[in-house]
Amino acid sequence: MHLATLLISFFITISLQAETSVLLEKKWLHGDRNCAQRDLQKVDVLAYDEDSYIIRQNKCFTYEAPFIYLLFGDQKAFLFDSGTSSDPKYFPLLETIESILSQRKTKPTEIIVGHSHNHSDHYSGDGHFIGKELYQLVGLKLNAITDFYGIKAWPESSGQVDLGNRTLKVIPSPGHQEEAISIYDPKNQWLLSGDTVYPGLVYVKDWEAYRSTINRLLDFTSKHPVSAILGGHIELTTKGTLYPIGTTYQPNETSLPLFVEDLRSLQQNLNNLDQKGTIRTERVWVEPMGFFRRQLSNLIRFFSGF
Ligand SMILES: [Zn+2]
Ligand SMILES: [Zn+2]
Repeated sequence: MHLATLLISFFITISLQAETSVLLEKKWLHGDRNCAQRDLQKVDVLAYDEDSYIIRQNKCFTYEAPFIYLLFGDQKAFLFDSGTSSDPKYFPLLETIESILSQRKTKPTEIIVGHSHNHSDHYSGDGHFIGKELYQLVGLKLNAITDFYGIKAWPESSGQVDLGNRTLKVIPSPGHQEEAISIYDPKNQWLLSGDTVYPGLVYVKDWEAYRSTINRLLDFTSKHPVSAILGGHIELTTKGTLYPIGTTYQPNETSLPLFVEDLRSLQQNLNNLDQKGTIRTERVWVEPMGFFRRQLSNLIRFFSGF
């Protein structure tokens, strides 16, 4: 490599790391010891840059406390997931977005609301946008997803959504849930992974589909630079132990970003297992969904979505 090229790539790496360090150091709103108190902050917003926002709900109002991503292009914006509630008393999502919009010089022509997957903690905020002209909701069923993003062969081929000078890639990611997708943002080099991988315990409904998805994502990272893999939840402590389901106070939760090494470590573990089973890597835990949970998931899936 030419010395100048080497230096340039060195500085790019340094500056990317500096930006990712914001995510590594960010201490999110993580619930409260006393959730019964009044006037608790409901939403945490990180303005990563002027065109990229990460929103998290308070664990006091929903133990799921999912992460929601709002990305602006030159014309349109994309909201990845809408959270657990359409009631502004618990989750003032519309108010939060309007406050972000009010600080921008130009308004987007449209805000597309897409979903990482068809689980209620990721789409129950859709009600905020019903009847609002600015917002376009992407459906939760497979046909709606493949049509909207232009995915020709699910799950092998990818789709895209053009926001104007920021074209997001859409990567089918079934396994945790049948219609799951991941989003690649070339601007920040983020891979938004929903519940497919995050620092916590991922329940896997279809083991073979999940293994293929992790291979697909890892293959994608070998062709595209990825500065951080950002998922839908944090459930691990800084010591690598798991907070129990239902926890409303996580004072020692770990940081949000995962990296390509974490994905590779998960892939190796998946490939080392002859049959489905529990996996605990340093940053991601995986467990096959049991029979009853799978049936319940089928039932909920049948009645949900549009
Ligand atoms: Zn899920
Ligand atoms: Zn979730």
